[in-house]
Amino acid sequence: MLILVINCGSSSAKYQLFNMNFGKALAKGVIERIGQKNSGCKNHYRAIALIKEKLLSGRKPILKSVGDIIGIGHRVVHGGESFSEAVIIKKPVIKSIEKMIELAPLHNPPALSGIKACSKLFPGIRQVAVFDTAFHQSIPPHAYIYGIPFGFYKKYKIRRYGFHGTSHRFVANEAAKRLKKPLGKLKIITAHLGNGCSMTAVLNGRSVDTTMGLTPLEGLLMGTRAGDMDPAIVPFLMKKENLSVSKAEELLNKESGLLGVSGISNDMRDILCYIRKGKKRARLAYDIFTYRIRKYIGAYAAVMKGLDAVILTGGIGENMPELKRRLLGDLRPILGTKIKFLTIPTNEELLIARDTYRLIKTKK
Ligand code: ADP
Repeated sequence: MLILVINCGSSSAKYQLFNMNFGKALAKGVIERIGQKNSGCKNHYRAIALIKEKLLSGRKPILKSVGDIIGIGHRVVHGGESFSEAVIIKKPVIKSIEKMIELAPLHNPPALSGIKACSKLFPGIRQVAVFDTAFHQSIPPHAYIYGIPFGFYKKYKIRRYGFHGTSHRFVANEAAKRLKKPLGKLKIITAHLGNGCSMTAVLNGRSVDTTMGLTPLEGLLMGTRAGDMDPAIVPFLMKKENLSVSKAEELLNKESGLLGVSGISNDMRDILCYIRKGKKRARLAYDIFTYRIRKYIGAYAAVMKGLDAVILTGGIGENMPELKRRLLGDLRPILGTKIKFLTIPTNEELLIARDTYRLIKTKK
């Protein structure tokens, strides 16, 4: 009962092989620098071929034969409005993922390359797409429609989609287990805090609002992404600094966030280190980061008309007890002592493996 999980990014391909009898990873790894000079891996096809070689080679190969794998699960970032759950990949699914390239130009093409490579390198093995956006398809229109002329939603499908859905869904489920209550009866806020950061209001097991929007740029302050801001800043800066559209996009996605404010680093460990050395702008970046989390906790408690638990996950959420202490200190006087603050490690790959296994078992 082996499931291979593939997560293709623009220059990397991560993989994990799960034994579903135990829900355990037997092997995992990453092929990096795909397509870069002197990397020895010129494209995603080659990366998947390397993964196959790794699994089949060595003195004690993990796989005796490719046929031991019963399914391959792919992380796909953007499923648009077409997918509210994982699906078995067939031609129309590929067409839909291709259509969403416009909204996820960096993410959907490598996922497609991974899928196409797998169909050649693992022939006959069924593949499943698990979308980052799917969990958020339950968000109601009043939370996903932006206040711009409605025609643009019709014409270009401009709306809030939300991302990190697999992670939010995974930790919300784990939280219900830890709280020993059915997920269907809980009001949970999940905060995925990694390089990219997003928060979700999970009401009775369904996402009802999330901080990321049409793209992963909206919401919290992130490593290099600006998050919420007055949209008028963009044309203002474009005029003043004579920026092209692509330069403006780069500024907001790659030069902003913790990096832009601190002027030092996009990495929270560095920010903490510089705060200890007394660097004021590192402190300011950290303060903006935590302030926005606090603000959204308040907002989402109001959205759900109550709150049972706040879950922290991702590299920052899982490893920064001082963040939890600070949020607790700030919010306990308002929220009371019944609200639980839990740190739960995310495991998107395991959920992708479970979705893949479930679909392959039930849909012959
Ligand atoms: P990605 O979104 O790329 O998967 P991760 O979830 O691994 O990223 O999170 C990366 C972030 O986690 C970085 O900002 C890193 O500094 C932060 N991080 C990792 N370990 C710690 C730690 N011990 N304390 C604070 N932040 C940490």
